[in-house]
Amino acid sequence: MTTTTREIHLASRPVGTPVAENFRTVTVELPDPGPGEVLVRNTVMSVDPYMRGRMNDVKSYVPPFQLDRPLDGGAVGEVVASGDDSLPVGTVVLHQAGWREHALLPGSAVRPVDATRVPASAYLGVLGMPGLTAYVGLTRIAPVKEGDTVFISGAAGAVGSIAGQVARHLGAAKVVGSAGSPEKVRWLTEELGFDAAFDYHDGPVAQQLKQHGPVDVYFDNVGGEHLEGAILHMADFGRVALCGAIAQYDAETPQPGPRNMMMIVSKRLTLRGFIVSDHADAAKEFFTQAGAWLADGQLAYRETFVDGLDQAVDAFLGLGAGRNTGKMLVRLG
Ligand code: NDP
Repeated sequence: MTTTTREIHLASRPVGTPVAENFRTVTVELPDPGPGEVLVRNTVMSVDPYMRGRMNDVKSYVPPFQLDRPLDGGAVGEVVASGDDSLPVGTVVLHQAGWREHALLPGSAVRPVDATRVPASAYLGVLGMPGLTAYVGLTRIAPVKEGDTVFISGAAGAVGSIAGQVARHLGAAKVVGSAGSPEKVRWLTEELGFDAAFDYHDGPVAQQLKQHGPVDVYFDNVGGEHLEGAILHMADFGRVALCGAIAQYDAETPQPGPRNMMMIVSKRLTLRGFIVSDHADAAKEFFTQAGAWLADGQLAYRETFVDGLDQAVDAFLGLGAGRNTGKMLVRLG
């Protein structure tokens, strides 16, 4: 027996902002699982900003996607055929073979998850890589101390929306966020407990952040103008967690750094980049803590779903256009 299924391949490497033509949907036949293997029917897959970097043929912390091969990334699904006794049919699992409707994987490449208390999709967002990123950034990279003022860019996204709430739990006195629409700004202040938020389209970040500083900790998801504006309003000895620079991912040429680098010296700032996969040892602590906050209603999250593999590329492109509030996900099942 075989299973006929579909997957998305990288057809060509994007130059600048990716377009639909850079991707191709391919129908494939998967054999039944052999000993130690499982066949998973994916129910939800993740699209993430870091995938843009993997579409370029450059050396980085993760290898580039290969042309004419399926893309990959986080996904959850259900085991529908199994050659591994420890993963019976019906087991809900998390794995890295997203961008396809079914995945044939060694049992060692999947992790069972408990989808009885939270939906399986939570393991791609609040209880997954994005949530852990927020936690690591504010506990290990730019640790929040009691009474701090914390600024978060990309605050209504998967990482940022959790980071704001984690900052509060760690004792921040004031949490400020920036996001790309009035609806997102309202979500931050009215539902997530941010003390203040602004729409970065309403004026220069440096100008809008002025009334909220000085900032002790900045969690940078965006880079560019946001980073320069934050440096301007950092307190002496402030800490910056450099998590991402989504404003620059589609740039065709190297982008200039902040023009006020000397302030890093004069204010004695610490700016530190990080990659969440280096901090797998923080996962247990985070999942225990986040699970408790979720159970107590002290951690809110939102998911933006699109439906069907045919919409997956659009969902990915939607990240650059700000079409998600909270985690962007593609429902497959
Ligand atoms: P998001 O859920 O935040 O989605 C991306 C969001 O970025 C969009 O919704 C949009 O929101 C915003 N955005 C897009 N273009 C711009 C722009 N030009 N200027 C400002 N905002 C923009 O993604 P994630 O939460 O998954 O990721 C956030 C950041 O964290 C990314 O930079 C990502 O690469 C990084 N990251 C880093 C990790 C690490 O290990 N270092 C791990 C995971 C993520 P809006 O409407 O507000 O513009």
